Amino acid sequence: MEERIVIGTFLDRRDENRVSELVRLTDVSKVYQGGITGALSGVSVTVERGEFTAIMGPSGSGKSTMLNLVAGLDRPTSGTVEVGGTNLCKLGETGLARFRRDHIGFVFQFFYLLPNLTALENVLIPAQLKGYSANGRARELMERLGIVDVANRYPARLSGGQQQRVAIARALINQPTLLLADEPTGALDTRSGEQVMELLGELHRDGQTILLVTHDAKLATRRAARVISVVDGKIAEDARLEEASR
Ligand code: ADP
Repeated sequence: MEERIVIGTFLDRRDENRVSELVRLTDVSKVYQGGITGALSGVSVTVERGEFTAIMGPSGSGKSTMLNLVAGLDRPTSGTVEVGGTNLCKLGETGLARFRRDHIGFVFQFFYLLPNLTALENVLIPAQLKGYSANGRARELMERLGIVDVANRYPARLSGGQQQRVAIARALINQPTLLLADEPTGALDTRSGEQVMELLGELHRDGQTILLVTHDAKLATRRAARVISVVDGKIAEDARLEEASR
């Protein structure tokens, strides 16, 4: 049996009560090799379980860097990244790969579906990597996301919006602790982009923790409950939005 990276909930050290914090970045900086200035400088932030948070900011401000660090796809130059009390900096490459497999669902701007597999087969990939069969769950998810009727089509025969919904189903198949999305509407027309955001909103209402990178303020503020603005590698603003203002 392969070891599973078990993550929990942070303990509030003062009163030992369980708090619902899921992600904690402490004084995180990232300087890429060859980079003159840091992509992130001294970022500290926490995200609670069940939150729908949008990370916004101009191109090059460090949004994707932040998401990649939370996903365990990259490591900070200094500072710590903890998810569910596990310090990702302390995990080796295999540990990080297990952490991603067990806890992270990632949705990208350009879908990255495998062209030689059908929509259903694409959705099933992460489950197969974990060694279990998830046909029933895949069909349920695809039904829910409105793509079950195209389950046997290849990606080339799907619209952009359908492809992104297949990618979302693939990200959700292993029931990730965290759903991360990097500009998921960036390659879609306005209507499909709105549908994808609506879908993320529904998933959030069902309890999914979501961290979304976008530069589209209108879409972000309509669905996300919290907007973190990143400018020049630093958090410039962190606002929780009331339901009524969305
Ligand atoms: P954003 O997502 O806000 O557009 P990024 O996190 O992608 O910003 O990038 C932040 C900064 O880090 C930019 O200056 C970018 O050029 C640089 N950067 C990002 N990835 C790399 C990399 N792999 N190597 C070198 N520099 C990078």
